[in-house]
Amino acid sequence: MTHIELRDVQKFFGEVQVIKDMNLVIEDNEFIVMLGPSGCGKTTTLRAVAGLETIDEGDILIDGKVVQHLKAADRDIAFVFQSFSLYPHMTVYENIAFPLRATGQSRAEIDRAVRQVADVLRIAPLLKRRPSALSGGDMQRVAIGRALVRSPKALLMDEPIGALDAKLREEMRTEIKRLHMQQGSTTVYVTHDQVEAMALADRIVIMNEGVLQQVGSPDEVYLHPANLFVAQFVGSPVMNIAEAQVAEADSEARVVMPGAAEGFVFPRNLLGRLEAGGAKGDGLALGIRPEGVLVERERREGYLPVEAHIIEPLGSHDIIDLQVGTQMLRARTKAGFVPRPGEKVWVRIDPAQAHFFDVESGRSLG
Ligand code: ATP
Repeated sequence: MTHIELRDVQKFFGEVQVIKDMNLVIEDNEFIVMLGPSGCGKTTTLRAVAGLETIDEGDILIDGKVVQHLKAADRDIAFVFQSFSLYPHMTVYENIAFPLRATGQSRAEIDRAVRQVADVLRIAPLLKRRPSALSGGDMQRVAIGRALVRSPKALLMDEPIGALDAKLREEMRTEIKRLHMQQGSTTVYVTHDQVEAMALADRIVIMNEGVLQQVGSPDEVYLHPANLFVAQFVGSPVMNIAEAQVAEADSEARVVMPGAAEGFVFPRNLLGRLEAGGAKGDGLALGIRPEGVLVERERREGYLPVEAHIIEPLGSHDIIDLQVGTQMLRARTKAGFVPRPGEKVWVRIDPAQAHFFDVESGRSLG
């Protein structure tokens, strides 16, 4: 059972505050992914939990015990870095066994532990090799094996597969997920790759400029982004964000984008929804993922005529940029749709997939 908690954690490097008032509870066996752009403070947070970095204020608790004054070695937490940092003169076996040497375990116990970890990571045939004779993926398996061999309370990983090529990264991602399902240890994993985060996490912690933006399951952060930053950081292609005004029209609401002759039709309850979310009239942004921009070749009720621009046929689906008023909306359509650039098509926003944000604060209005 390992439970990690950060309470009001603050960290400065000189004058610069890189962790701002961070509060987070990580449950036993949870796979947490910390996601955010370069420099947002993910690594510093992870290193602070591991004891490799001090904090200036707040508490870090492991299983209810305050640990920020404990040395890294006394926290019983394992760390895997992006650079595999294996000992080049040792074999794979010796690299994995290394953390157990100082524990006073017998040779037979160490042997059993190394072979068990090697089996789980499928590197048993490589035990006699030296790191220089391993592929990048195998090196990282060995680094993970070395971290896991002493059954740490928690496993912290900082961009562990960031240095691998795209295909290997995908393979290793699956391996890491399988390993977590088998071993079930509390894991905190840092990445700036949102696809990796979505694929691995039980919950994603999204950070920007030292501030925690949202914590939630992959579905939650994708479907209900708390603010504009999360909305645009999660999802590929990114969510369309467009200026919009909402007007009342008979029994409906209309969402009008600047320069557009007509507005998109929404159910009238949109007005109540925005009011409940704290909308102040002007300063609204509409957020719609490309799959929520519905495109048709023929005229249809509730669809507006627009011009197709850049088209990217991607095999499984197509991406089409559409000019709506002065703004561009990106749509994701089924494969083979492919209008000609400049062709007139008909477009509608799916109200069920639309988000609205307050432009000034960035906050989601529902
Ligand atoms: P990346 O993905 O690039 O590693 P990150 O989100 O992990 O980014 P951190 O490495 O935690 O971000 O860095 C947060 C900020 O703190 C950055 O502005 C970085 O330049 C700064 N920083 C990190 N370590 C130090 C240090 N030892 N001294 C001074 N500034 C530092």
